Amino acid sequence: MAMRMSSLFLRTLRDDPADAELPGHRLLVRAGYIRRAAPGIYTWLPLGLKVLRKVERIVREEMDAIGAQELTFPALLPREPYETTNRWTEYGDNIFRLKDRKGVDYLLGPTHEEMFTLAVKDMYGSYKDLPLSIYQIQNKYRDEARPRAGLLRGREFLMKDSYSFDVSDEGLQASYDAHRAAYVRIFDRLGFEYVIVAAMSGAMGGSASEEFLAVSAIGEDTFVRNDAGTYAANVEAVVVPQAGPVDASGVPAAHVEDTPDTPTIDTLVASLNANHPRPDGREWTAADTLKNVVVVLVQPDGARVPLAIGVPGDREVDPKRLEAQVAPAEVAAFEEKDFAANPSLVKGYIGPGVLGEDKESRIRYVLDPSIAEGSAWVTGADEHGKHVLDLVLGRDFTADGTIQAAEVRDGDPSPDGNGVLHTARGIEMGHIFQLGRKFAEALDLKVLDEFGKLVTVTMGSYGVGVSRAVAAVAEGTLDEIGLCWPRAVTPADVHVVATGKNRDRDGDVFAKADEITAALEAQGLDVLYDDREKVSPGVKFKDSELIGIPTIVVVGKSLENGVIEIKDRRSGERREVAVESAVDEIVDEVRGRVAGAGA
Ligand code: ATP
Ligand code: MG
Repeated sequence: MAMRMSSLFLRTLRDDPADAELPGHRLLVRAGYIRRAAPGIYTWLPLGLKVLRKVERIVREEMDAIGAQELTFPALLPREPYETTNRWTEYGDNIFRLKDRKGVDYLLGPTHEEMFTLAVKDMYGSYKDLPLSIYQIQNKYRDEARPRAGLLRGREFLMKDSYSFDVSDEGLQASYDAHRAAYVRIFDRLGFEYVIVAAMSGAMGGSASEEFLAVSAIGEDTFVRNDAGTYAANVEAVVVPQAGPVDASGVPAAHVEDTPDTPTIDTLVASLNANHPRPDGREWTAADTLKNVVVVLVQPDGARVPLAIGVPGDREVDPKRLEAQVAPAEVAAFEEKDFAANPSLVKGYIGPGVLGEDKESRIRYVLDPSIAEGSAWVTGADEHGKHVLDLVLGRDFTADGTIQAAEVRDGDPSPDGNGVLHTARGIEMGHIFQLGRKFAEALDLKVLDEFGKLVTVTMGSYGVGVSRAVAAVAEGTLDEIGLCWPRAVTPADVHVVATGKNRDRDGDVFAKADEITAALEAQGLDVLYDDREKVSPGVKFKDSELIGIPTIVVVGKSLENGVIEIKDRRSGERREVAVESAVDEIVDEVRGRVAGAGA
């Protein structure tokens, strides 16, 4: 197939779009792949659609290869099933809700567990029908709070979602493993560096869950791994082990001290070292202090419930870890009006004395698990300008529980006991999880087992961000001059550029370029052919660099010497080849690279 630039629906732009913060997004717009229709909503132009379809094809082939069957559900969905699973409420502001002319509620599907579950319930009734894996590749709608970087976080985006249905836990594990293997093949073929990390199942509930992250500095997810390769997790899913108890027998009784003007940890540590030196002669550090952070959890129904979190003073509460723990509630700041409503909390001096469901504030109080029973702390005394010293957990104060919400840092011990953690950033490309029986129970999906007894089906749910993958590949492969597609997803295999001015004057150049294009097409290659007249060679070269097809063939002046030029977009390397052998050379280059890259 050839796309001729003289008629292709394409306009490359010299200037960056105003709203694009990441280079890949800027280039996809400038090179004529996508155009913004509304915030987080994009139109796919012909070149972009080619890339999208290639990603889609890789995903489809690998899903089909594990025996999953493709179908497609509507995107416009009724409210009832989502009401039954409570997700109509739990999704909060993140779903698009709408009404028909009769005032009946609908939503645009953010993900389709409910519909798949009901479809299987409609059609199947026996263990003999299972296992079953079904999938679709379809637009999803989420009213994201922060649409970002064009396709990376869209409000309309293309997702492959599949669902497995099994009778037994072992069956679910087998379906999960098959999907995991298919995902490894998909992401190997897409050709970016990725990691598989333990993940939180978030609003979905369920148990085992892993994410496939493209390793990328621009990623919104942070993950950790150890050197031995025995542990990798999204920071959201890191479970810091509970510190064992320590001996507090030598710790003096707790005592309140004046610490004027110390509302922050830094000012507190300085004041302690100046006015209350430690008996053991060591300097006080932030790690000796217990910081109590109060936030508001906004429930899906809008209710505001405060939560107090105790962390060592040298660590922050990580908003993403906290959000993952409290989902579907959202985290909001504890504001002046909240202080006014909770007079026992003294800003800057909040302490365990008033925190806890059974204490004066009635605010639930949870601790970081690194805080050991028997450990002694300096913390707020719930009075302006005062802190309490030698306050021992278990002896002098208690909490309502623990929470995995403190930041995880480079060099922290690996939770599996194997070395230390390193942090890096990634883009979530895929997510697989064992839903278990949550949705089947809610929607009453049961089948008869081999003994004629009704049993609840167990499910898995597996997503790939197809449109996000286009953006991730673009971001991961571009260079200073433009996009730089890997062969697996390039919109065309070869970009043929005819550098003549017009067909009247440079008939030979155009005739030869036509001929080469036709020959490449005949060999089954996809060609983007720049056959535009009255466009300067400089503009054509710039466009070819911007568009980023891996092999660029220039047919121009050197034709007089019987040669054409083959240029590698990524390395910039160029070589001249004899016209007679040009087509063979190009085909070899394209096919060779394909085989060489395993893509
Ligand atoms: P994220 O944490 O990035 O918001 P998610 O956990 O909500 O993603 P899932 O519900 O697991 O995402 O969706 C499956 C896949 O769909 C994700 O792994 C991701 O690749 C893709 N995806 C999710 N949200 C978006 C979006 N707003 N735009 C583009 N792709 C998305
Ligand atoms: Mg996810």
